[in-house]
Amino acid sequence: MAFDPHDPYDAAALYDMWLNCQGCPATFDFEPQRPLGLDYYHDIGQRAKAEGWVVHEQPEAEPGEDVSYLVCCPECAARFGLAAPAPGQRRAPVAIMDICAAVRAAEDELAA
Ligand SMILES: [Zn+2]
Repeated sequence: MAFDPHDPYDAAALYDMWLNCQGCPATFDFEPQRPLGLDYYHDIGQRAKAEGWVVHEQPEAEPGEDVSYLVCCPECAARFGLAAPAPGQRRAPVAIMDICAAVRAAEDELAA
């Protein structure tokens, strides 16, 4: 499995660089010594999902507006009664596709 811009967990990890709970100071900090890249963000996103973090993509109020994510650690998700998003293909935000393409291009350049 590789980075999936349609998965809100992968997308939030990429967009925010790491996952910070919005209800308490908890941070999902995963192997900070690893080089940043799409694989890294994918691993953070999927590990957070496995540990019960809840990430929701906030719908853009206006088309073209910045995307944002609601991120909660497992404790806060339980406190607020937040459930994990239902799996399924969703539209990836334009901002995420743009960042994803830029990171991918930078990685290709490094590999060349
Ligand atoms: Zn929390």
